[in-house]
Amino acid sequence: MRILLTWLVFSHLLHADERYEFERPLMGTLFRIQTYAPSQEVAQKASMAAFAEAEAINEVASDYIADSELLQLSKKPTHQPIVVSMRLFCLLEQARHMAVLTDGAFDPTLGPLTKIWRESRRRQKMPAAEMIQQARESSGYRLLALDASKRTITLKASGMRLDLGGIAKGQAADAMLAIFFQHQLRRTSITAGGDVRMGDPPPGQKGWTIGVRALGNDMEETTLTLSDCAVSTSGDLQQAVKIDGVRYAHIIDPQTGLGLSRPVAATVIAPTAAQSDALATACCVLMPEQARALICKIPGCTLRLPDPATESGR
Ligand code: ADP
Ligand code: MG
Repeated sequence: MRILLTWLVFSHLLHADERYEFERPLMGTLFRIQTYAPSQEVAQKASMAAFAEAEAINEVASDYIADSELLQLSKKPTHQPIVVSMRLFCLLEQARHMAVLTDGAFDPTLGPLTKIWRESRRRQKMPAAEMIQQARESSGYRLLALDASKRTITLKASGMRLDLGGIAKGQAADAMLAIFFQHQLRRTSITAGGDVRMGDPPPGQKGWTIGVRALGNDMEETTLTLSDCAVSTSGDLQQAVKIDGVRYAHIIDPQTGLGLSRPVAATVIAPTAAQSDALATACCVLMPEQARALICKIPGCTLRLPDPATESGR
């Protein structure tokens, strides 16, 4: 009996999945895969396929690659349906859905404004009010129409520019995890900067241990134990610009067309990373009460906002 038991334990150990890790810089951040697989080859094969998909998403949806399919759309005639690739259509459909859900707090049509603010950040100068006004007229998710039956999109104003920067990393992490699932590797976690998408927990554990920046304080981290969901943190800590003594975040308030100038940060747990990524951005735009009300009505979502005590100390 003892020999049998020892053999069972031993053979289990022999066949136990090992942990593998892969990293690649992508979308302006570092993507990290952690997975438990029966062999290096199996893990490697899945990770190559997953990175290839993330690269493909980036090529289609990047706001930085001048000839990305997304940016090419800005050069097409307005008020006419444009057929787009299946990959881009799916990304835009999800993004528009999140815009509707957040009533435009997350809005993938803010490209004209994010472009202006990117330039301002570089030059450390406030954008001209007329430029902002003009950009606002070319923004708004209601100006983006999609037709799934024909796989077309229509831009309903001139000067429009789409920006998936607030959701693309999450979408890529979801797509990568789906590929690991296809390879039967469910014990996988994908980290894409501030967005994490997790499958089943590591062997013998309750979940993945995720370090979340303690909001309102960039020195500390708290940990969460999660599985089969996603978590994203957005905030002004890293990419804010100070102009005339005011800090403007890289997240735009669609109501004003300005970068957020109050201290903002939000962590959202959601079923998918596309959701958590877009919602974390939206919850920064919304006032805390509105953000809580929004998250309450979406199944499977949780929100963490900075402790007001810490916030006021910043
Ligand atoms: P990060 O990607 O830096 O972690 P976010 O997920 O919050 O942070 O995305 C911020 C990016 O989203 C900005 O750089 C810009 O490209 C875009 N963006 C800014 N404001 C909004 C907004 N209100 N809705 C949707 N996208 C936005
Ligand atoms: Mg986001």
